[in-house]
Amino acid sequence: MMALPRPARISASALLDLWEQGEAYHSLDQALLVLERAYPAITREELAAYSIGRRDRLLLQVHCNLFGDRIDGCVACPSCGTKLEFGLSCSALAEPRGDDHPVKRTVQCGGGEWEVRPPNSRDLAAVANQPDVQIARQMLLARCVASVVPAQEQTSALPPDTQRVLEAELATLDPHAEVFIDLSCQACAHSWQTLFDIASFLWSEIRTKARRLLQEVDVLARAYGWTQHDILTLSPTRRSWYVQMALS
Ligand SMILES: [Zn+2]
Repeated sequence: MMALPRPARISASALLDLWEQGEAYHSLDQALLVLERAYPAITREELAAYSIGRRDRLLLQVHCNLFGDRIDGCVACPSCGTKLEFGLSCSALAEPRGDDHPVKRTVQCGGGEWEVRPPNSRDLAAVANQPDVQIARQMLLARCVASVVPAQEQTSALPPDTQRVLEAELATLDPHAEVFIDLSCQACAHSWQTLFDIASFLWSEIRTKARRLLQEVDVLARAYGWTQHDILTLSPTRRSWYVQMALS
């Protein structure tokens, strides 16, 4: 099993550029933009063709590099509405759970032999504007069927049983594509599972960090007359001390 490539360091200035460029993008494109910056040796075409599980493992590594291993999340209890905090570890979430680079699998079901591959960013983009979830799932699955013997009509929806089997196969082929976390509410004892999406979580962390950097630039430029470039090239520790002194 091949190890994942290591992400490059993203400087404070590069993080601001990243946020500025991607803020208005769709979440799928934000994820690809982050990966392009963090893995400059991999082309955007290659990144877009990675399975979502592989994409998300790379994003977890980027989170680890930029913000540390720990993820602090917050969610409202669906039963009583109490705010609940939870902690996750990027390295634990990114641990290999099967094939590191899932490509294809052959599945026998519904009287046919199906060759399926896990969905990638292009597949998700192709169905992103479909408002009907059931139709979107069928479209996604159709894209992920590389071949079927005997040949079936492309346009007809698959029988529900076949669809279920193929979707289950895809979930085991690319187990990192959907990460569910178990939560339970201290206030009302309700337990449930929630889907954790590293792509949107990481982007919101990038947004928060970018806004904080802009505030720091604002404070230090006013206090000391330094340029944005000077301020962003300070180490985070030094920048934070100067901000404290400027505000005291
Ligand atoms: Zn509750």
